Amino acid sequence: MKSLSEYLQDAEIAHGHLCAGQVLGVRMAMFGLKQLGIHEPEGKDRKRIVTFVEIDRCATDAIMVVTGCRLGKRALKFRDWGKMAATFVDLETGKALRVAATESSKALAGTLHPELRSKNEQQMRAYQEMEDGQLFHSQWVQVELPPEEFPGYKSERIVCTECGEGISYRREVRRAGQILCRACAGERYWKPL
Ligand SMILES: [Zn+2]
Ligand SMILES: [Zn+2]
Repeated sequence: MKSLSEYLQDAEIAHGHLCAGQVLGVRMAMFGLKQLGIHEPEGKDRKRIVTFVEIDRCATDAIMVVTGCRLGKRALKFRDWGKMAATFVDLETGKALRVAATESSKALAGTLHPELRSKNEQQMRAYQEMEDGQLFHSQWVQVELPPEEFPGYKSERIVCTECGEGISYRREVRRAGQILCRACAGERYWKPL
């Protein structure tokens, strides 16, 4: 595994700027992987990790940098829960650790470097210095990962009876003898104009 400062450089490039969220995300992913005993996320452990993220914020980009998990590789799973938390799953051992930022970490970060002008600078510095235990709480968990959730799953495409569009990864809904995509089954986030 790279050092914190190396990962922060990578994160800055990937994310476009360095911010408190990057520091928190890098620390969170480094902590998670370390607990799992995964040391070479860019080398031999490359295909071993699946990460669930529970927020779409700055930290998420940093978690992607450290774990190498990407949405397009199906190794990053997004749950839109608005929580600064992530679960790191080791596909080799089946072990999984959920890590969440403590509510107290923000307030503590604000007190460590009052000499720095902005909140972001205070947090950026403090998040690099605080102990894992001050930043995070974590628990070992079990994550059900059916075959179609695995990054390398070979999926057949099924066609929606209603709209005719193809559906992969068993995302179809079967109802009254019909095969429907999620949109046609009523989960649409858009409506036609
Ligand atoms: Zn940011
Ligand atoms: Zn459809």
